[in-house]
Amino acid sequence: MNEAIPSVTFGPVTVYFGDRSGKYPDGNQLVVRGAEAVAVFDTPLVANRLPQVLAEADLAILGHVHEDHMAALHLLPQRPLFVHEADVAAARSWEAMARHYGYDDAVLQALRTRIERQFHYRPRPDAIAYADGHVWDLGGGVRVRALHLPGHTAGHTALVVEPEGLAFIGDIDLSGFGPYYGDASSDLGAFRRSLARLADLSARVWVTSHHKGVVAERAQFLAMLQAYTACLDERSERLLQMLQGGPRTLADLARERLLYPPGHDELWVASAELRTIALHLDELLAAGRVRLLEDGRWMRD
Ligand SMILES: [Zn+2]
Repeated sequence: MNEAIPSVTFGPVTVYFGDRSGKYPDGNQLVVRGAEAVAVFDTPLVANRLPQVLAEADLAILGHVHEDHMAALHLLPQRPLFVHEADVAAARSWEAMARHYGYDDAVLQALRTRIERQFHYRPRPDAIAYADGHVWDLGGGVRVRALHLPGHTAGHTALVVEPEGLAFIGDIDLSGFGPYYGDASSDLGAFRRSLARLADLSARVWVTSHHKGVVAERAQFLAMLQAYTACLDERSERLLQMLQGGPRTLADLARERLLYPPGHDELWVASAELRTIALHLDELLAAGRVRLLEDGRWMRD
């Protein structure tokens, strides 16, 4: 049943590519085969088309909690599921998942219905917390090390396979869209620090959840990471341009949009625009480049 799904193998790690290189709503499935245990990293939609591969799994490790990374956990109800301690509550209950997203109630209701249908979403009250630096020994010298890289979510973590030197970097996806930090547990400053930390990580292969998939050359990886990081300052500059004509409210700026093109109307767009712009305004405020007026409008300083 697996023959139609493209894959590539690096030592103990096999990457199975989701639809269109794992473009959302799909993602890329990693499987790590040690001498004593087999681990899967996340379970994107494509995992539903890999039943024999998933049947091998002894444990599942999530790089972070979002619906598209949990889409085949329903096939692993009895297996231990490990989630970073800052995201684990969101894996355990819908109520914490709703706080993790932080959208309006109406949006959350619609989203829940959709992700139950599209991503087989269900809470995992049994999820086990792990901390930065945790190591899973899979036997035969194969280890997985957790490298906490928050920003996309509070618990977003790279999973590094040793001694292969392969880093699964999840939703630091190196896409042209740039970093996403539009949810309640997202953080722009943390994302910047994580990108700097990732540049210093010694690895030989980097694998993203979406779009780019596999990068196996350090110079290419660093160039992609630099372009991806540059999106952050480009957004700040664009926001300053939006304030060129005079003071504006956050709601007004969010209606014009910083991230998404007009007509891209996913459920979370309004909330993600508000949150992203607020994070940039806070950063620009701290840098003395904008000011908040008493009437709630923002202006350039
Ligand atoms: Zn995500």
